[in-house]
Amino acid sequence: MTHRSVLVAGAGIAGPALAYWLHRHGLAATVVERAPAVREGGQTVDLRGAGRAVARRMGLERTLRAHTTGEEGIRFVDRADEVKAVFSSGSYGGQGPVAELEILRADLSRLLYEETRPYTEYLFADEITELSQSDARVRVTFRGGAERVFDLVIAADGARSPTRDLVFGGLDDAVDVRPVGLTTAYFTIPGEPGDGRWARWYNAPGGRVVTLRPDGRGTTRAALSFLSPPHADESAEKLVPQAQKQLLHRVFREAGWETARVLAAMDTAPDFFLDRAVQIRMPRWSHGRVAVLGDAGYCASPLSGMGTSLAFAGAYVLAGELAHHAHHEQAFNRCEEVLRPYAERAQRLPPGVPRVAMPRTGAGIRALHLALRAAARPRAVARLNRFLVPPADTFTLPCYSL
Ligand SMILES: Cc1cc2nc3c(=O)[nH]c(=O)nc-3n(C[C@H](O)[C@H](O)[C@H](O)COP(=O)(O)OP(=O)(O)OC[C@H]3O[C@@H](n4cnc5c(N)ncnc54)[C@H](O)[C@@H]3O)c2cc1C
Repeated sequence: MTHRSVLVAGAGIAGPALAYWLHRHGLAATVVERAPAVREGGQTVDLRGAGRAVARRMGLERTLRAHTTGEEGIRFVDRADEVKAVFSSGSYGGQGPVAELEILRADLSRLLYEETRPYTEYLFADEITELSQSDARVRVTFRGGAERVFDLVIAADGARSPTRDLVFGGLDDAVDVRPVGLTTAYFTIPGEPGDGRWARWYNAPGGRVVTLRPDGRGTTRAALSFLSPPHADESAEKLVPQAQKQLLHRVFREAGWETARVLAAMDTAPDFFLDRAVQIRMPRWSHGRVAVLGDAGYCASPLSGMGTSLAFAGAYVLAGELAHHAHHEQAFNRCEEVLRPYAERAQRLPPGVPRVAMPRTGAGIRALHLALRAAARPRAVARLNRFLVPPADTFTLPCYSL
């Protein structure tokens, strides 16, 4: 085998999931994570279709179920908190806008870390700053100063992946970072009795959305989203957090509903995090002994509802192919052949998304509510499920002997 030692960049979801599957196939992983610990923050993520099947094969489904937020579904509300449309977590067979298996991203990341740490070398507060490869090895330098040699390096460090850019950044047309026109800030705020067990989604005119999701811990996960021009030079994600918060205060001023409460709590939120949603498209997922995994290689954006399922399926297939091919190049090629059609389907967002879900006018919001109410009726499922059910079930996992 040309690949006994594997360095993985990123201890989010895809990185630890890969460490798990490599171990099951008898391969060892080192995982380097830029943050000082597993990252907190974010809202819930959902495991669907192939992603859930991978979790089942990991023996994790029951544990994940025990950690779900218990969210009962989502209510679309107006300025007066009057409910305009409702989707329970059981709607669309548990695969609708709120899936049956919703778990806080931070909990999932921590569970994967705990599961893999007995047999995985984790390096926190560090990252790869230089990387050079020969036919036989990859030599890396870490920010902390250490130099080491590995057989393979896998970039699983998210949509903005610095590790991917070290390798593919210098190649022509190797990475297409495509904004989808939406900027979102995520943070945790104190819960209030009215937050209940349902997610609430509020549209304010001007293409603004506020969501509140109870997290099962007594606190509430808030998100503020606004439409952002896809090619804006002045992107909010490039600002320092203080300036991002000032921008949000301006954008969401007098938005109505519970926005004033959310803005006030944002200023002291411990886990404030803002990002512009992007998709990542790459014509090749590997270069020599380096490959990409999860959001780093084929991010479909949070709008797809598929990021975590893709990360799980990607980790499973990549490890399986590495274990069953003597040469890494064959394994990388085969992994891409198997997984690429699934990733591409996940990236095909329904027409008009996100604008269609974030109208600019009061009339547009009223039309959206009518459409959602229609979509919530059982007979509407066939026509409207394209907008509400991600293509998670459109991939059958290969079987790899362990
Ligand atoms: C803090 C956070 C909150 C999120 N919240 C949501 C959410 O609410 N809803 C949603 O749908 N998706 C969210 N996501 C994205 C979601 O986790 C992914 O779409 C999906 O689970 C695939 O995961 P991934 O492991 O490929 O990437 P990610 O989950 O993004 O993990 C990447 C990891 O790489 C680390 N990293 C970054 N740069 C380096 C580097 N140079 N070297 C080493 N490590 C590095 C990051 O700190 C992170 O831990 C969030 C991601 C993060 C990081």
